[in-house]
Amino acid sequence: MRLIGRNDLFLLVGLTAALFTVISRPLGRVVDYAREIDHSWDLQLVPALVILAVVFIFHQARKRHESHAHAVAAAAEARQADVRVAEMERLVNFGKALGESLDQSAIGVVATQQLPALAEGRGAWTMALNGTTWHPLAVVADRSVAECETAARKALEAGDASSVGVADDICFPMMVGRHPVGVLGVAANPPPTDHQRVVLTAAAALLAGALKNAELFEVVHENSVRDSLTGCFNRQHALEVMDGELRRARRSRLPLAVIMFDLDHFKEVNDHYGHLCGDAVLAAVGQRMRTVLRGSDLKCRWGGEEFLALLPETATSGAERVADLLRRNLEEHPVRWNVSDIQVDIPVTASFGVAPAAPGEIDATAIIARADAALYRAKANGRNCISTAAQPEEAASR
Ligand code: GH3
Ligand code: MG
Ligand code: MG
Repeated sequence: MRLIGRNDLFLLVGLTAALFTVISRPLGRVVDYAREIDHSWDLQLVPALVILAVVFIFHQARKRHESHAHAVAAAAEARQADVRVAEMERLVNFGKALGESLDQSAIGVVATQQLPALAEGRGAWTMALNGTTWHPLAVVADRSVAECETAARKALEAGDASSVGVADDICFPMMVGRHPVGVLGVAANPPPTDHQRVVLTAAAALLAGALKNAELFEVVHENSVRDSLTGCFNRQHALEVMDGELRRARRSRLPLAVIMFDLDHFKEVNDHYGHLCGDAVLAAVGQRMRTVLRGSDLKCRWGGEEFLALLPETATSGAERVADLLRRNLEEHPVRWNVSDIQVDIPVTASFGVAPAAPGEIDATAIIARADAALYRAKANGRNCISTAAQPEEAASR
């Protein structure tokens, strides 16, 4: 705490005058004594003392000025350090939130929330590049998506790895290795400082990493739920989806049916034309399922050459019609196969079992067991046909 401030100057002058009055006589005697010494020893003590006093006062004033300048510089540095810490915190939070975002829409939400702060109030946008198509992740700027896309394209064409000025924006390419996965753009006005550019370059790098992460996560997830040969879901995933669909059907009181089918005499295809040909037939069956069934129907390779389809909101007659469409599609379109440069048509037929779920039924394995039993009846009935399981009693009360 300062005892004497600027406003106390008047008081200080008064005190000094009073003190001078008190000690003026002894001081006068000291000066007289100094004069006597000057006289008797032929010296210049008094002027020397005056010079010393003036030099001392100037020296003290300069030191005070210097320490004041140091204090001002230190305060400015401390303010800068606070700004850097805040920027670093924003970047860390951005990275953390992106780390938890496993798809593009989640990344878009994080970008929408946090880019304005990272761009320090400037308009900001970010576009993802999926193959050759652009997809807006976040647009928090006075720009249309088309304008952002044009700027993003130009930025990548310019080929600068750090930042490029395009029209009214500064663009930061988002790179994974040498591959662009998107562009981050901020309004060029007011021009960002070198340090702000570093922050935005880091933000673009974090976004690029998050996009790659999301892509890899999707690939891994797809591989874990799909059969790569037929493109159908695997048995494990189908059971999970079926569980959800059965509960939904119970809530909505809408019908639901399951179709199981098994290729006829498929072993003969392998035996005659080899396993590669057998694989080609299985892949073609997956393709036919995608052609004939609805997008919302579940397509599953149950195992080997046995397939399952789950048809939400479909009653028995509808499911029988779909099964017959698929049966005829397979029968009427044999699979082309090359044998020593000669194209042969491999006939493909299948036997089908249809099982409607009882109203309110949620036991997937029970429905599948009925579809499977119906399928084996179709086999017994001569193959290339459909058999339908009877619908059990209502299960809603269970
Ligand atoms: P059925 O009409 O009674 O069903 O006779 P099928 O020959 O189709 O049935 P079977 O169970 O005797 O033979 C099934 C064959 O499917 C045997 C197996 O080698 C073959 N298979 C299972 N999975 C694959 C696969 O992924 N690729 C190939 N190429 N063949 C497979
Ligand atoms: Mg078979
Ligand atoms: Mg089989």
